[in-house]
Amino acid sequence: MSMDRRKFLNLSGLGISSFTITGFIPKSIQTLNGQEPMNGQSTTLRNINPVVVATWDAGLAANLAAWKIIGAGGKALDAVENGVKVTEDEINCCVGLSGNPDRDGHVTLDASIMDHEFNCGSVAFLERIKHPISVARRVMEKTPHVMLVGVGAQQFALSEGFPLEPNTLSKDAKSSYENWLKKSEYKPVINIERKQATSQLDPSLMAPHKLSNGEWNHDTIGMIALDSFGNLSGSCTTSGAGFKMRGRLGDSPIIGAGLYVDNEVGAVVATGQGEDVIRVAGASAVVEQMRQGKSPAEACKFVVERIRRIKKEKAKDIQVCFIALNTKGEAGAYALHKGFNYAVHTKDGNKLFESSSLD
Ligand code: ASP
Repeated sequence: MSMDRRKFLNLSGLGISSFTITGFIPKSIQTLNGQEPMNGQSTTLRNINPVVVATWDAGLAANLAAWKIIGAGGKALDAVENGVKVTEDEINCCVGLSGNPDRDGHVTLDASIMDHEFNCGSVAFLERIKHPISVARRVMEKTPHVMLVGVGAQQFALSEGFPLEPNTLSKDAKSSYENWLKKSEYKPVINIERKQATSQLDPSLMAPHKLSNGEWNHDTIGMIALDSFGNLSGSCTTSGAGFKMRGRLGDSPIIGAGLYVDNEVGAVVATGQGEDVIRVAGASAVVEQMRQGKSPAEACKFVVERIRRIKKEKAKDIQVCFIALNTKGEAGAYALHKGFNYAVHTKDGNKLFESSSLD
C-alpha cells in the first residue's frame, strides 16, 4: 500500500467516511504480472464514489456500460440492467441467445434483478427474447409477481413489446451442440470454467473471454453496484448450464440463490454450478455472513467452504464463485477453484482481478 493510501485510510479514523475495496483481493492483470493476490490488502477510495463489480472478464465491457450511468450520478438499478445487456448482446457460450442450448437444442434463458428496496423480478426458461434482464425488470416493476417462467414469461415479454427473435442457434453454439450430440452423453455440463490463468489473458482486449484455442471461458454475467445515493442493486443473466435437461433452471433466476441484495448489508451474485448454489441459498447466505460482520471476501469464502463440505469429493468436479459488495463499497470474491476472475469499476478505473479460491 502506498503512503498516500495509508494516509487516506487514517482519515476514516478521524470521522471522514471512506470507501474501501478490500478482501482477498485482487491483482489487476494490467499491473501485477503474475504475483499472488495479497489477502486482506485494502485500497481506500473517497466517499461517495459508486462501485460496479461484475463476474468474469466479460464484466469489463459490462462495467463500462454500467459506469456510464452510475459514474454520471445515475441509479444502481439502471446501471446493473444496462451493464449486463452488453453481455446479452455479445456472442458467447453462456449468456443471451447466442449461448449453448439445452440437450434438445433450444436456448433457454434465466435472469434476475433486485434493487435497494427488496423489489425483485426474474424470468426463467425464457426462449427467443434477446434481453431477459429487461424482462425481469418489467416483471419487478409491472406485475404483482417476482418470477415468470417459460411460455408465460415469453407472452409477458411480447406484451411488453420485446420482439420475438428467430429460433436459431449461433454458429458457435451449433457446432458445440453438434459435438456434444456426437458423444451421445445425456449428461448436462456446467459452462466451461476458465482453464487459463487471468495473467495469461491479453489485457489489451476489453473482454478477452475467448481464448486463443477458441474455447470460451466465462459463464453467467452477474453485476452488483453501489450508486452515489448509497443504494445497492444487482443483476444476473445466463443461458444456464450447457446441454441441460429441458426445463432445467439454475440459480440465476432464483432470488436468494443466484442474486440477493439487502441495502442495509450488501449485494451478492453467484456463478458456477447453479444446483450447488441453490442448495445453500448461496447469495442470501453470503449476505447473512456480511450481516454478522464478515468482509465481502470472507463472507463469500464461508459459503464456498460450506459447499465444499456438503459436496465432499464431488467438490473437485464443480465450480462455484461469489462476488459481494457491502454498503461501504467494499468488494470481494471467492471461488471453489482457481480460475475465477471479476471486474471492478471505481472512479479509479475498470480492472480485472483474480479471485482467491480454496485451491
Ligand atoms: N450459475 C449458472 C447456472 O447454473 C451457470 C454458470 O454460472 O455457470 O445456470
